[in-house]
Amino acid sequence: MMEVAKENMRQPAHLLIFPAPLQGHINAMLPLADALSFAGSLRVTFLNTDHNHRLLSFFSPSQYSRFSLRPNLRFLSIPDGLSDDKPRSAYQLTELFHSLRTHSVDSFRALLLAGGNKDRDGWPPVTCIIVDGLMPYFMDEAQALGIPVLAFRTISASSLWVYLQIPQMIEAGELPFPADADLDEHIKSVPAMEGFLRRRDLPSMCRKATKADDKELQLFTNFAASSTRSKGLIFNTSDSLEAPILSQIDSIFPTTYAVGPLHALVESITSSSVSASLLAEDRSALNWLDAQPYRSVVYVSFGSLARLTHEEFLEFWHGFVNSGHRFLWVVRPDLVAEGTAAVEMAGLEERVRLVAWAPQEAVLRHRAVGCFITHSGWNSTLESAAAGVPMVCWPWAWDQLVNSRLVGEVWKVGLDMKDVCKREMVESMVRAAMEGEKAEELRRKATDLAVEIRRSVGEGGDARLDFERLLRDILSLSL
Ligand code: UDP
Repeated sequence: MMEVAKENMRQPAHLLIFPAPLQGHINAMLPLADALSFAGSLRVTFLNTDHNHRLLSFFSPSQYSRFSLRPNLRFLSIPDGLSDDKPRSAYQLTELFHSLRTHSVDSFRALLLAGGNKDRDGWPPVTCIIVDGLMPYFMDEAQALGIPVLAFRTISASSLWVYLQIPQMIEAGELPFPADADLDEHIKSVPAMEGFLRRRDLPSMCRKATKADDKELQLFTNFAASSTRSKGLIFNTSDSLEAPILSQIDSIFPTTYAVGPLHALVESITSSSVSASLLAEDRSALNWLDAQPYRSVVYVSFGSLARLTHEEFLEFWHGFVNSGHRFLWVVRPDLVAEGTAAVEMAGLEERVRLVAWAPQEAVLRHRAVGCFITHSGWNSTLESAAAGVPMVCWPWAWDQLVNSRLVGEVWKVGLDMKDVCKREMVESMVRAAMEGEKAEELRRKATDLAVEIRRSVGEGGDARLDFERLLRDILSLSL
């Protein structure tokens, strides 16, 4: 084993941050890189895949030039092993992660052996690494070189907790369950969640599994367990959002940092926001919102990966139209899995706007937005919570099913319509979130939660204190 870290003694601290090459993961980890580099006491390299690096440079040039003005933050990239014309959407994820594991590990090792300094631009060797918990093989690689590694999980602490409890659920006979089981029955073997977690709310692979040694079930259990081999576990959450679950995780894994929502933390620290898009943002969405009345618009987005069948797309469309409300809908070019996303806009131009990709954080903060129809990806959930916008949740897969339950049943800042996609239901959910007493109650709770989040990321707040502890620990791990 080569002790790279020891050779690096007395070098300035140099942190390398490596997110999984997906929009949601970059959006979660980039603000952390920004906040840590802003602190000034260490250098930060943000590592992307070549493919994403090209897209980010093209679609977010202003962010890139802003960063290039900050001398202690830089971007590097390594190949993901796939040819550039290969799509990297939800249906190709297995291929992408297989390629990362088999191809990119060599480039990653070579980069670390060159001290993280492949451009020979005078940066000191890497002294500490934060790696996405979805890619444990990179963690193993860095540890084999003697470099301390912290794991970052971009999912909610609640979702990770459920993944960590899969072996206990199997032992208790609660997993797997038959296809015709009552999905509303509560799960009893997951501590701190007995009161609200139903079969229906378990991550999607739990519902699909027919045997205890199901491959996908094992894969996600192993990812969750592998993070605990790192020097510490970083979450994009805070006590204001998930205190009871964080204390459960602390009891089995003592070094955790709950520093989120990171997009809000970085704004509180640097007074500016940070984002980087793999698709071109249609900023005209903001001009359109400027012309709409206060809290009159339903914002709809299913994130960067979720896909709808053509039938689901039409049920949503008619539900929105029939609600009579104004809506702004992100219809990504690959949102509809088969068929087209063509719709009849005649007569609706005034109150309907479709865009391919929106500047989401700014949209959610806009005064014209009244509620958010979301697939409950963790970033989207955090962005809505921090902006005080009530949600209507239609989780699509994975951890999203846990998140929507948090929103609906624990925070009570939204409505969870998981598993149903009928136009009547869509219409009634939109109305409930936009009109009358229920809407007011949701808005009140959402506003309270947003205030809590601001307190938490502000000076002296729990997320800010965890961030400061994380910075101190990175510096001491770098010695
Ligand atoms: N996003 C965006 N514009 C859009 C749709 C989404 O900037 O039109 C961003 C959104 O702000 C969030 C990320 O894409 O930060 C999606 O991450 P999330 O965890 O919500 O879902 P995923 O895409 O990983 O399923």
